[in-house]
Amino acid sequence: MTIQNTFKNAARSPKRIEKLIRQLLIELGENPDREGLIQTPARMAEMYQEIFGGYRMSAELDVSFSEETDAIIAKNIEFYSMCEHHMLPFYGKIHIAYIPSGKVFGISKLARLVEKYARRMQIQERLTKQIADEIMRCEIKGALIIAEAEHLCMKMRGVKNDSLIITICHRGIMAEEKQLRDNVLALIYASKPEMRSV
Ligand SMILES: [Zn+2]
Repeated sequence: MTIQNTFKNAARSPKRIEKLIRQLLIELGENPDREGLIQTPARMAEMYQEIFGGYRMSAELDVSFSEETDAIIAKNIEFYSMCEHHMLPFYGKIHIAYIPSGKVFGISKLARLVEKYARRMQIQERLTKQIADEIMRCEIKGALIIAEAEHLCMKMRGVKNDSLIITICHRGIMAEEKQLRDNVLALIYASKPEMRSV
């Protein structure tokens, strides 16, 4: 049984998640039957259906419109994901730039693609890479994906590092042609010149 199948079974059984959360509350030293906590396991089981819903999403990126165009940039796609090391949120913005090959993606499809990979146990580097890999499978000429995120596991524990983590992934013509990449980066960061150094 794969890890994903294990999750799918669990996701079809919110009652089992409820029981586990109740047990966790007890282990943490809480009384799960007190008024404020009595509905918490059920609420969390329901919430997990949503925030881990990426495992069950298909992005349908193959649906696109015919266009002749150069680079297309979808900036500031908001995302929320869960750090797989600590099960705490990391969240921020993703910028997707790509060079189409006769067809373009609808903006909502790109937002759905981000959700597909964000709504699961993740690390930021893999999230960036998975989006780049999937978009490249659609016969485009090149892609540049940037993720900027804050990590609660860095903010609220350990060294309490407050930095913004930026990950970048380029593929195809975007990896090969530095001038094109620089132009696209300049467009993405036009209003944030202090971050051009990425
Ligand atoms: Zn973490």
